[in-house]
Amino acid sequence: MSIQSGLPQSFNPDAYDVIIVGAGYAGATCARRLAEACGYKVAILERRPHIAGNAYDRLDDAGILIHEYGPHIYHTVDDRVHQFLSRFTEWTDYQHKVLANIHGQLMPVPFNHASLKLAFGEEKGEHLYQKLVATFGENKKVPIMELRSKNDPELSEVADYVYENIFLYYTMKQWGKTPDQIDPSITGRVPVFVGDDDRYFPAAPHQGMPAEGYTRLFERLLDHDLINVFLDVDARDLISVNSDSLLVCGRPYGGDVVYTGPLDELFGSDLGALPYRTLDMVFETLDQDQFQPVGTVNYTTSEDFTRITEFKNMTGQVVPGKTTIMREYSKAFEPGSGQTPYYAILEDESQKLYQAYRDRVRPLLNFYVVGRLAEYRYYDMDGVVASALALSDEIIATNR
Ligand code: FAD
Ligand code: UDP
Repeated sequence: MSIQSGLPQSFNPDAYDVIIVGAGYAGATCARRLAEACGYKVAILERRPHIAGNAYDRLDDAGILIHEYGPHIYHTVDDRVHQFLSRFTEWTDYQHKVLANIHGQLMPVPFNHASLKLAFGEEKGEHLYQKLVATFGENKKVPIMELRSKNDPELSEVADYVYENIFLYYTMKQWGKTPDQIDPSITGRVPVFVGDDDRYFPAAPHQGMPAEGYTRLFERLLDHDLINVFLDVDARDLISVNSDSLLVCGRPYGGDVVYTGPLDELFGSDLGALPYRTLDMVFETLDQDQFQPVGTVNYTTSEDFTRITEFKNMTGQVVPGKTTIMREYSKAFEPGSGQTPYYAILEDESQKLYQAYRDRVRPLLNFYVVGRLAEYRYYDMDGVVASALALSDEIIATNR
């Protein structure tokens, strides 16, 4: 493996069997599998000055391991993904917990048995809990939009409380829309939990943090003789695509291209820019051991930011007298502004626009799209790895 900044003068695309755009989970997973299974020589072009995509972590000036592009907590139910990633890292047993700050009171999110008692008092909370158990069963997840649809005064009281205090203001800040106006799968990621488990991902049998961090995981993932990574290279300077040709360095390219960036960018967004939400992440190092009791506190009824993450609480790193926290401010992504497109907008209109771009690359048999940006999906890390493993299977099968 080599990782270098920029492309050498001598760069010859024909010396590679596959060119991969992006060194995040999607690109790095495909690179490793194609190098291992097909003996492919792989060039990865990455426009950032580092590998690992949005999972990139690094030590800050205070020596604290931070996640540059937002808090990343690994969790999956997918055994294949877990086995694959576990080749490149050990995991800590960190179990992510989130508290909502509701008018100054902290209560568990997903909203659970304990939250009910904090919100409604011991006795009434217990009564409402038994009602939820009788209706949905114990240890069940109930999306807020489903709970709201129940026609029962007591369930409605719970639903109204959770909607007003957990979802409404946070969702307005995150998406600029109310929970009723966005795709229900989004709020469904954080369902009410009818039970005592206070973890953010109660269903995930595999969860934790990579023991030496995400960037180290990626260094190992990309550590293969046949993989060369070129940082600070925007693939659009080399690759041009239209429905009947794929040119690399101005010449038809016979190898494969795996693209993990935003699809509209490849076409100069000529049909219109795909909409996204972006985030301003504001880091602050404080002269104290600890700022808050858990990894993340969601501000669900106050403040302009959505949440505060305290990295030491997630990584378990011990740095006496210092801690780094980060506030996230969400806003509409402005194309061409240099902002990072973090969240695809799951609406009919944007999905149609995405499909129009996707249709354009479909005829190109050696051009593949994969990943959170290129598939315009709300993928977690494990979802991206699963998708990249599936795509690699497909490419490997056609090359046997
Ligand atoms: P990316 O990581 O975005 O990688 C794509 C890479 O392609 C980027 O490095 C980009 O620079 C590069 N690229 C794009 N265009 C070009 C080009 N033209 N030329 C060269 N390079 C290019 N998932 C979890 O499982 N748990 C979490 O807790 C979690 N938290 C998250 C928090 C936030 C704030 C965000 C935004 C996401 C979070 N995720 C989380 C999701 C996770 O970040 C993604 O699922 C995953 O990183 C996506 O990997 P990817 O390879 O598809 O994309
Ligand atoms: N959400 C909310 N309040 C919360 C947590 C989540 O309203 O306390 C909603 C909000 O719309 C958010 C979505 O649920 O965008 C998904 O939350 P998640 O924590 O999965 O978001 P991510 O970590 O991907 O930003």
